[in-house]
Parts: sequence; structure tokens; C-alpha cells
Amino acid sequence: MKRLLMHSPIVVAVLWIVGYLLLTLLPLLVLLLYPPPGGRGFWIEFSVALGFIGLAMMALQFVITARVNRIDSSYGIDILLQFHRYTSVVALLMVLVHPAILFIAQPETLQLLNFPQAPWRARMAVLATLAFLTMVITTIWRKQLKIPYEPWRAIHTILAVLAVGLGFGHALGVGNYLGLFWKVVLWSGIILVSLWLIIYVRLVKPWLMTRKPYIVEEVLPQQGDVWTLALRPLGHEGFTFAPGQFAWLTLNITPLSMREHPFSMSSSGECADRIEFGIKAVGDFTSTIKDVQPGTKAYLDGPYGVFTIDRYWDSAGFVLIAGGVGITPIYSILLTAAQRRDDRPFLLIYAVASWEDITYKDELESFKENLDLTIVYVLRKAHDEWEGETGYVDRSLLAKHIPRHRGSRHYFVCAAPVMMAAVERGLFELEVPVTNVHMEHFNLA
Ligand SMILES: Cc1cc2nc3c(=O)[nH]c(=O)nc-3n(C[C@H](O)[C@H](O)[C@H](O)COP(=O)(O)OP(=O)(O)OC[C@H]3O[C@@H](n4cnc5c(N)ncnc54)[C@H](O)[C@@H]3O)c2cc1C
Repeated sequence: MKRLLMHSPIVVAVLWIVGYLLLTLLPLLVLLLYPPPGGRGFWIEFSVALGFIGLAMMALQFVITARVNRIDSSYGIDILLQFHRYTSVVALLMVLVHPAILFIAQPETLQLLNFPQAPWRARMAVLATLAFLTMVITTIWRKQLKIPYEPWRAIHTILAVLAVGLGFGHALGVGNYLGLFWKVVLWSGIILVSLWLIIYVRLVKPWLMTRKPYIVEEVLPQQGDVWTLALRPLGHEGFTFAPGQFAWLTLNITPLSMREHPFSMSSSGECADRIEFGIKAVGDFTSTIKDVQPGTKAYLDGPYGVFTIDRYWDSAGFVLIAGGVGITPIYSILLTAAQRRDDRPFLLIYAVASWEDITYKDELESFKENLDLTIVYVLRKAHDEWEGETGYVDRSLLAKHIPRHRGSRHYFVCAAPVMMAAVERGLFELEVPVTNVHMEHFNLA
């Protein structure tokens, strides 16, 4: 019973949250248990506490974004990244309010803003705050500021290291609260683990990946401006994955270059020696896929993600809802289920621009031979003879097709953001339990 409880995904997810709260509040607890000598009044102590919590939250962002499989598999990468975004803003607010309170409570501390004459500990605080502020602004408004993804990612990493490093330098410089030897040890531990994680993710892991290369076996055109990129492991066994998961792909360059892109595997989860991706040309990298030559070297970091029916073995059946290229993880789910001869009912609602844009149409139809599969195509622009569904996937369309016993199924949705939002709303209004709805967002950044 105890073992079962420890392995339950909900228990594990709750334990990670408790761990996060403990680590965030640990420096504060130490502060409360061993207050520095000579109390300086509530507001000063409060301001310092905010600074410490903000710094701890900043340092923990390295853990959240380090692609630690055990953490990722408890929540899914998009929930973790949402958490990363929101907690960064909260941490920034704390970091900003920390000096603001100080300036109000002790106006003479405003002199610390006189950068050329201020002591190093104050300069470090100013620089750390500016780095943090720039990081948040360039992330929230990246698209409006027209910063391409790759340079943004590199700058984001540098600013993060600067913000945490300088923030820690400031805390050490102030010294008042870090006077005790082991308090320094505690903080140094948090900072060193964070920095190690960034070195591991950006250098060690990519280096390990170079030892497990893949080669491009073929590139095949599919309907809907999608290209199948098929990879074969070179000198190793590849990996199996739960259908619906994704991996980070680097093509033709070393993974150390940090130019990797996430794609869902579209092949069968059971087939480790040929891994396929269905890639739609939408930008710089994806537009080059059609020209990739067989024999090109590739590297994969994965599998990642929780968008998979394998986590719900006790579900009575599944409703899969795809829009456009969002079919790729769902295709892998259906292909693997067909190979496994899964006897549960599957309903696929698949929205595309037109009949010609249905990717994997023949393959999907062929799955019906081995699966209890119903497919509802939803065409935005239908031809004259079309008698099926048209328009958008909304509440009324869902109500018409999803099973009456809504809670007996698990629902997997992968589409463009507008469609995902409409489907989520529709399912909610149709009283599908939120715990049964799983979403995969392709636009993480
Ligand atoms: C979990 C997941 C699974 C995905 N699966 C598929 C799939 O199966 N098939 C498919 O066609 N697409 C998939 N995508 C989307 C795919 O990663 C992007 O379309 C691709 O990275 C765009 O790169 P680009 O250089 O061609 O386009 P750009 O024009 O450079 O970028 C377009 C947008 O894509 C995002 N993006 C660009 N580069 C990256 C990157 N390295 N990492 C994360 N986001 C980036 C940014 O928001 C950017 O603004 C998936 C995305 C995620 C997060």
C-alpha cells in the first residue's frame, strides 16, 4: 500500500511541490530560527525575507527547466514551463519590492543607487535586478520585440546565470544574514546545484548525446505540407517511448550548438530502431526539412512528455482531438495501439483546412482494421460533395460525437492555440472532468 502510494503520480506530483516550497522557504526558515543579532524592525526584516525568497525562486528555475525526467513526467513540460513563467514573475516582484521597502523604511539607502559610488554589494544588486528585468521583458514580449528563438534562448541563459550569480554575490556582500558559516554553505549549495544543472543541460548532456548519433534514413512528403523525417540509430539501440511523447532534435550540427527543436515522435513507440517525426514547414528550421539528405547526422534528447495514453491503462477508451500538424503525437498513439491490438474504443476528431490537408489519411483509415476506431474529419473549407463536419471544433460538435459517459474516457488534444482553447472550453461545458483532459502545446516559447 505504502509503495503504491509512493508511486502514484498525484502523490509524486504533490511531493515535488512540497519539496519546491521547502527549498524556497528554507533560507527564510533558517533566517527565522537564527535571526541576525540586533533586530532592525519589521519592514527591514520583511524586505530582506522577500529578497531571499526571490533569490531562492530564481535559483530553483534552473531545476525546473533542467529537463529532469522525474519532474517532467509528473506534470508535463508545458505545465512546468507555465509554472516557470509565473514563478519568475512572482520572484521578480519580490526582488523589486525588496529594495522598494528598504528605500521607504530607510530613505538614506537611496544613495546605494548612485552606481559609481555605491559599494560592490549594491552594484551587484542593481546589475542582478537589471539582468532579471531584461530576462522577463524579453521573454514575455519576445515576439513583439521580434527576437528570434535561438538568440533569445542563448541570451536567456546568460541573463539567468548573471541574475542568480550577482544576486548571490549581493547577499554574500551584505553579509548580515549570511554571517554564519553554514548559512553560507546552504546558499552556496543552492547556487552551485543550480549552476551545475545549467552546465549539465547545456554542455554535459549535449556531449553525451554526441556519443549516440542517428542518421537520417529518408525524408518523405506527406499531405498537409508535412514531411516525415525517419532516423535510424547509429551504433546504439535507440530508444523506445510512450506513444505521444516528444524529443529534442538537432540536425547536421553538434548538439553543443544549442540549436535543437522539439518534435513529437510519429512512429510506433515500440519500434526503437526507426524513429519518425512528422514536421510541418512553419519557419527557418522546419522549412529546411524537405531538403535534408539521407545520411545526415542527427541527435535526439528524449523521450519527454506526459501526453500519452500509456498513463491511463484503466481508461475505458480514448477521445483524440487533433488540429493540423497536431495529428503527429496522436498518429503515434493510434499506430502503437493498432500494433498492440488495443481493444478499447478510440474516437479521433481531426480538424484540417481542407480534404487535401489531411496528413496520414490512408494510414489512419487502415488502422480501422485492427482498432475500434471512429474518425470524424472536420474541414474548414469543404468541397461540394462533402457530407461530413465543417467549420470549427466547438461545444456543439463535441456534444454530437463524444460518448455520453464522458468521465469514462480520457481526452487528448493537440492543435493550434485557438482550437485548443475552444476545445478545452467545450469539454469543460460538457462536464468532462478536467483530470481526464490532456493537452499538448506545440508553441512553448
Ligand atoms: C512538445 C512539442 C512537440 C512538437 N511537435 C511537433 C511536431 O510533431 N511537428 C511539428 O511540425 N512541430 C512540432 N512542434 C513545433 C516545432 O517545435 C516548431 O514548429 C519548430 O521548433 C519551429 O522552428 P522553426 O525554426 O522552423 O520556426 P521559427 O519561425 O524559428 O519559430 C516559430 C516558433 O516556433 C517556436 N520555436 C522555434 N524554435 C524552437 C525551439 N528550438 N524550441 C521550441 N520552440 C521553438 C517559437 O515559438 C517560434 O516563435 C512541437 C513543439 C513542441 C513544444
